[in-house]
Amino acid sequence: MRYDIAVIGAGVVGAAVAYRLRESLPDARLLVLEKESAPAFHQSGRNSGVIHSGIYYKPGSLKARLCAQGREQLYEFAQREGIPHERCGKIILATDASELPRLQKLYERGLENGTPGIRLLSSAEITAYEPEARGAGAIYVPVTGIIDYKALTERLLQLSGAEVRYGAEVQRLRPISQGYIIHTTQGEYEVGHFIACAGLQADRIAWMDELHPPLRVVPFRGDYYELAPSARYKVRNLIYPLPHPTYPVLGVHLTRMVDGTVEAGPNAVFAWAREIYTRTGFSLRDAWEALSYGGTWRFFLKHWREGLEEYLRAFSRKRFLRSLQRLI
Ligand SMILES: Cc1cc2nc3c(=O)[nH]c(=O)nc-3n(C[C@H](O)[C@H](O)[C@H](O)COP(=O)(O)OP(=O)(O)OC[C@H]3O[C@@H](n4cnc5c(N)ncnc54)[C@H](O)[C@@H]3O)c2cc1C
Repeated sequence: MRYDIAVIGAGVVGAAVAYRLRESLPDARLLVLEKESAPAFHQSGRNSGVIHSGIYYKPGSLKARLCAQGREQLYEFAQREGIPHERCGKIILATDASELPRLQKLYERGLENGTPGIRLLSSAEITAYEPEARGAGAIYVPVTGIIDYKALTERLLQLSGAEVRYGAEVQRLRPISQGYIIHTTQGEYEVGHFIACAGLQADRIAWMDELHPPLRVVPFRGDYYELAPSARYKVRNLIYPLPHPTYPVLGVHLTRMVDGTVEAGPNAVFAWAREIYTRTGFSLRDAWEALSYGGTWRFFLKHWREGLEEYLRAFSRKRFLRSLQRLI
């Protein structure tokens, strides 16, 4: 059978693309090809479950605009479709007085971004929002929320009405006069068009289509711990540090999930494999491709201090705990 459009990847992006395609092309034959046995198997099912406000992004940038738009669309969809979620708010802490100027800058950025309802909190005001949090000041961001991204992905796929093939890893793309033959581990599919939403394999799909992108996916792993049930009371909602001024991560934070558990993390450690989730996981192909890419070395040289600290913290619970104790 011939399909009008195939989506490669059943993470939240592939599922949302299939859903939107169905809205604009009600009669199209849609196919979703996923190499794993279930949706949201990689990033989308392993993230912090946060609906971000958009406060951090450069004002006027596409990222800032889309994050704010997407946030409201997500709340509306989750409400309508009964996806577990909550607009619970978060605080971003300046852990000591030296961080207050950066906190002020972030607050001003939030105002420029039009992030609704943000408030600058004094040290004394923090405990009204998070009784166990300590800091020299904070920003309260009421529009941040939490959601079950796996349930969201499943529902989007269901509503898309697409035929979803699991265990179908795309291995080759062969152009034909009116589209493509997609070769997968489950056979061949003829399609008019395809949209690649392959997450950590995005560059490889682009190479299969002879696009030769100059960028490469370089894997970084995030480790999480979970607070013991007896310690959950320490975190009402979400408690974040100020993001590092140059290292492009948000910093280990405390996140209440929709099921009531509280996660602590993630760090961001260079990983030797794209889709293996153990500390010592290794893939020769992934490691070689990352280490033979100039961008990896430029990143290492620029951030060797932070990278080393992340690595040490990944193997030391004490260090991880110390980072969290700066927050509560
Ligand atoms: C540690 C961490 C925490 C995060 N926390 C948050 C958060 O709290 N809030 C937030 O908004 N974002 C968060 N993010 C980002 C967010 O999770 C990702 O942006 C999002 O999940 C990406 O979705 P995706 O569909 O592009 O990728 P993925 O979810 O990785 O899906 C890609 C899919 O494509 C499939 N695929 C790949 N290659 C092939 C192939 N050849 N054939 C068939 N299928 C293929 C994969 O198996 C996979 O299922 C976090 C990310 C990380 C890593």
